[in-house]
Amino acid sequence: MPAAVRREPLASVAPSAVAPTALSEADLRRLRASLMARARDLVEQDVALRQRLTTEQAVTANTFVAGTEGACAAAADDQVIALLHHEQDEMREVRQALLRLDEGRYGWCAECGDAIGLQRLAVLPEAALCVSCQGMAEHRAEHRVPRKGEPLKR
Ligand SMILES: [Zn+2]
Repeated sequence: MPAAVRREPLASVAPSAVAPTALSEADLRRLRASLMARARDLVEQDVALRQRLTTEQAVTANTFVAGTEGACAAAADDQVIALLHHEQDEMREVRQALLRLDEGRYGWCAECGDAIGLQRLAVLPEAALCVSCQGMAEHRAEHRVPRKGEPLKR
């Protein structure tokens, strides 16, 4: 199968050629569409993960397994829970990005206020920070305990 069926890139020019400016209406529409699509994917993923978790918990609860099998089931649960957390973090970012779109704040770095740039948003439409602020945030995160273990919502 040819790899010809690819989504049209939002920006096909080199990053250095893109001046980080306000996004056009057309860009915003495309980015909104990709955020909506991402949100739908995440909802499906959420449902699938929850089903997996329920199934695995049911298996663990209904079968009296000791030793390796029980440990495997627990490890699988941990993995699903980790995936759920990751999915929910992403969902929160996507929702916040859609909110910023609605409020006309989309595309501007939440930290320094600079334009995030279409190049970056095309790859990561939920990005709230520009590349350099993101880099600094990640650097800080390395020296801090990341926020974890937030309660599952809904
Ligand atoms: Zn910034």
